[in-house]
Amino acid sequence: MKAQATEEEIRAVCEHIEQLGFRPHPLPGAQRTAIGITGNQGEVDRGNLASLSGVAEVIRVSKAYKLASRDVKEEDTVVRFPNGATIGGRSLAVIAGPCSVESREQTFAIAEQVAAAGAQFFRGGAYKPRTSPYAFQGLGLEALKIMAEVRARLGLRIVTEATDSESLDLVAEWADVIQIGARNMQNFSLLKKAGRTRKPVLLKRGLSATLEEFLMAAEYVMSEGNYEVILCERGVRTFADHARNTLDLSIIPALQRVSHLPILVDPSHGTGRRDSVAPMARAGIAAGADGLIVEVHNHPESALSDGPQSIYPEQFAAMMREVEQIAPIVGRRLERGVTAAAEASRP
Ligand code: PEP
Ligand code: MN
Repeated sequence: MKAQATEEEIRAVCEHIEQLGFRPHPLPGAQRTAIGITGNQGEVDRGNLASLSGVAEVIRVSKAYKLASRDVKEEDTVVRFPNGATIGGRSLAVIAGPCSVESREQTFAIAEQVAAAGAQFFRGGAYKPRTSPYAFQGLGLEALKIMAEVRARLGLRIVTEATDSESLDLVAEWADVIQIGARNMQNFSLLKKAGRTRKPVLLKRGLSATLEEFLMAAEYVMSEGNYEVILCERGVRTFADHARNTLDLSIIPALQRVSHLPILVDPSHGTGRRDSVAPMARAGIAAGADGLIVEVHNHPESALSDGPQSIYPEQFAAMMREVEQIAPIVGRRLERGVTAAAEASRP
């Protein structure tokens, strides 16, 4: 749409697309709104659309992913939260917390320290995708309630994983961001269901997913009308055995070339080793990532999951200071925590 197109013109174009039997996806940006069209088999008649009031141009997107593509929306997507935090854009987003919520006491001890160090988001698993059925599976709803208390008390926004349809309903109700784990990146029914919620979705790259498969997973969410998808590189399987996974930082510029979606780096699952987390976090920010998701534990030696890759709160604070220094070199900034103004307007 033209930059000066009115709401009515945008609505009229959407209605026209619906009358053609297709689905319109209005994607507002700072400069102008793009309207993606899906559901068409073959070419859409451009002539009619191009002549509608307010339309600037009609572009055919030849890539398999459409709504995730920069062809449809040129500007970077910025996901905004009520505490003033953003994911995407100039300001770096930092999500930190334990792999799993283990108790109220453990959760608050960690949350207080990551908040003090400047994280804007808290992570904690309530539903855990474990390799072994005998391993700790998460506290479920109890964990979601503990994290809701963390949000109320500390202002941190909550990111947690939904592993199936049932947990997705609860996560969408209690959390601020729905995480879809690496193992579920191609769980298409789960992706579609997440697309029908109106909470941002943090989508982790599958263990062996190509760039196109990753963006097609994002496309599943977006095709259902939820355009707030945050990508996350968390390492892929390779022959290398010095680390749990191989953190593929080269996907950051590759994604940024073709997609407007924000991309975070997870140096915790990406390496599986405490001593590698900060170096790879620094590298991720230097490579242009929009932020980090990091596992932090106050007693990693007795953590119920992912202890070996969890860093101590003091290590997290040191990592934040390093990231803060790297940020301006790559045109970013680290805004620590929750601003006083945002705090006051917190719901
Ligand atoms: C996690 O974030 O704790 C997790 C299980 O991540 P992934 O899906 O990337 O393995
Ligand atoms: Mn974990």
